[in-house]
Amino acid sequence: MSRPILSNDRQMAAEAAFSYLGRLEAMSGVSTASKLKPGVVTGKDYETLVATCKAGSYALPAVNVTSTNTINAVLEAAAKNKADVIIQLSNGGAQFYAGQGFPDGSLAKVLGAVSAARHVHMMAEHYGVCVVLHTDHANKKLIPWVESLLDHGEAFYKETGKPLYSSHMLDLSEEPIDWNLSECARILQRMSKLGMNLEIELGVTGGEEDGIGSEFKEGADNAKLYTQPEDVLQAFDKLADIGMFSVAASFGNVHGVYKPGNVKLRPEILKNSQDLIARRHNTGPNPLNLVFHGGSGSEKAQITEAVGYGVFKMNIDTDTQFAFSAPVGKFVDEHPKAFKYQIDPEDGTPFKKYYDPRKWLRAAEVGLVERLGEAFHDLGSTGKTLAA
Ligand SMILES: [Zn+2]
Repeated sequence: MSRPILSNDRQMAAEAAFSYLGRLEAMSGVSTASKLKPGVVTGKDYETLVATCKAGSYALPAVNVTSTNTINAVLEAAAKNKADVIIQLSNGGAQFYAGQGFPDGSLAKVLGAVSAARHVHMMAEHYGVCVVLHTDHANKKLIPWVESLLDHGEAFYKETGKPLYSSHMLDLSEEPIDWNLSECARILQRMSKLGMNLEIELGVTGGEEDGIGSEFKEGADNAKLYTQPEDVLQAFDKLADIGMFSVAASFGNVHGVYKPGNVKLRPEILKNSQDLIARRHNTGPNPLNLVFHGGSGSEKAQITEAVGYGVFKMNIDTDTQFAFSAPVGKFVDEHPKAFKYQIDPEDGTPFKKYYDPRKWLRAAEVGLVERLGEAFHDLGSTGKTLAA
């Protein structure tokens, strides 16, 4: 693509965002977003972005990245679709970013996450979109990883007035809920001083070893497979006064434990949690900021329903991995000799223009950009960037 992505499109994006927000304000009587400065959003700007998504019943894809190629493709897709986006790194993704060959794996997970964040801070502003920068699932063993990132985050805050990340996740859903929530409260106390959000996970109350596996094989629609609204209320009571938090609740989207398709998605679980908290605390509708894990391969109607219940973030990894890799396979199939010889052994033609890594990595980036166009569309976020 040779045309400049940014100048005219940014103007159009600003106009689209303005008229959209005007409608929203007229509808709800609540002033939601002023436009935001493009770049990584944190603190009040993060709150505004999330509130605007929820008020407008749309969500942002949260894309796992591992490299500058994947980060730049996400930014390109967001700019092209005039949409804001969530960029996230798992601990493994962060390690890969630092280099899989780096001798100290634990240190690589920290340094890679810091390096990737600095790249996103610089480039997001210039692509002209708002980006929520987040780290993905961290279980009990990875609490020290998150705490190291907060050491770096505090230093970055001193330097720039912004945290390094908008948000971190702690997934302590396999631990007893009281311990899960007290650890989350401890970490959130530190994060809220920097204007950061904490994403937590409230899981199912059992697993294979608790006999749920066998009940489950009979197709039982077992309540234990879904987060209970009382647990979500307990999280709200514990965390709401400390700082910003978001909740990944299981509503059938159990990942990694059961085969996909075996659990029935029940987005109304999310509604029950929202309603319980709204009743107990006299809030408006949808007080919680909800996130949808395991979004790849979900049916569109259920995505739309979940978004209506206050889901502002949907994780997408499996599908975007395939979208990045499939074009490379196609490229190699189309130019097989170029990946075996530098020069054609039959007629001496040089193959440099095919094996140059920029050629096939660009094909991969384009594949990811196209798949994200679909994701923005499915989540209703196309054209809705808040970036000024
Ligand atoms: Zn999860």
